[in-house]
Amino acid sequence: MMTLARRIQQTIRQDVASMHGYAIQDSAGLVKLDAMENPFRLPAELQRELGARLGRAAINRYPVQSSAEVVAALARFVELPAGCRLMLGNGSDELIDLLSVACHVPGAKVLAPLPGFVMYEMSARLRRLEFVGVPLTPDFELDEAAMLEAIAIHRPALTYIAYPNNPTANLFDAAIVERIVAAVGEQGGFVVIDEAYQPFSSRSWLPRLAAHPQVLVMRTLSKFGLAGVRLGYLCGAAALIAEVDKVRPPYNVSVLNAEATLFALEHADEYARQAALLRAEREKLQAALRAIPGARPYPSEANMILVRVPDSKRAFEGLKARGVLVKNVAGLHPLLADCLRLTVGTPQENAAMIDALKASL
Ligand SMILES: *Cc1c(COP(=O)(O)O)cnc(C)c1O
Repeated sequence: MMTLARRIQQTIRQDVASMHGYAIQDSAGLVKLDAMENPFRLPAELQRELGARLGRAAINRYPVQSSAEVVAALARFVELPAGCRLMLGNGSDELIDLLSVACHVPGAKVLAPLPGFVMYEMSARLRRLEFVGVPLTPDFELDEAAMLEAIAIHRPALTYIAYPNNPTANLFDAAIVERIVAAVGEQGGFVVIDEAYQPFSSRSWLPRLAAHPQVLVMRTLSKFGLAGVRLGYLCGAAALIAEVDKVRPPYNVSVLNAEATLFALEHADEYARQAALLRAEREKLQAALRAIPGARPYPSEANMILVRVPDSKRAFEGLKARGVLVKNVAGLHPLLADCLRLTVGTPQENAAMIDALKASL
């Protein structure tokens, strides 16, 4: 009989066999500031309420009614413009993949600025769409001329703009984004504005959707405070969402995910309070980082801060040895040389991180 190794070699795609899976760091015993999670749990009283509610959920049934309720609740929560529709994903990672599937006409390309969120490229490659990356400027702004030229040459089916961007944390210049949206409007294709960090950001494209049918706004509840729940949503012109929704696995959001989401939206004030606290902590962190000789923090409209240090590998290891886990993003792109990405945590976690960083530089 054929050996398993041979069987794998014959059967598993060559590009899959040679790729690395999405890297997740081991965080056991460490202050976890590497993945833009909200550090706050629900207050004990709300935890009990949620537990009782999940206990009553009809987990013997496929999720149909529960998903419809989440769609309706989110549409109200975001004040979805008239003529638009909203669909759910098992996190926005799934929505990115559904877009790759739905938009795969022959020769279809996906375009995104780099450094950016890695799933745009990974999904495009796995679904065999060509990926076109356009470098940002050295201060992490969109390179307008390069973006417009790439859009004209490649006529991408999908152009992703993370707004704010990950891992750089900044909001791109609004006027440049506007001109990119207009260029895509002329060329064909769609722009996906990824607003994963919306609770921490000062601007959004969602209110403008009705006037821009070439735009989709994607959001997630992960950074909002429900990373463990897995709930993303995609908003856009109703006719377009109707097409993308056809490739969604029918029961992609579990009854438990849906109930937890409905509960969170009913307690949106608690999450708004947490987000306000994190935004205030971000400003305190910025000031503390600016005061550290050798550290250069970049502007942030997210719950993370990109900071350049003299030696990011050494700083990362020093932080880890002192019990603080961050992300060393230096290897992701040449523009990120010696950059660390710090997630904004609780006041205590942030203080520990700053102390550990000072000691590590
Ligand atoms: C974290 C993140 C996501 C992924 O969100 P999930 O809903 O957890 O899959 C999407 N886009 C950007 C830019 C992110 O940083």
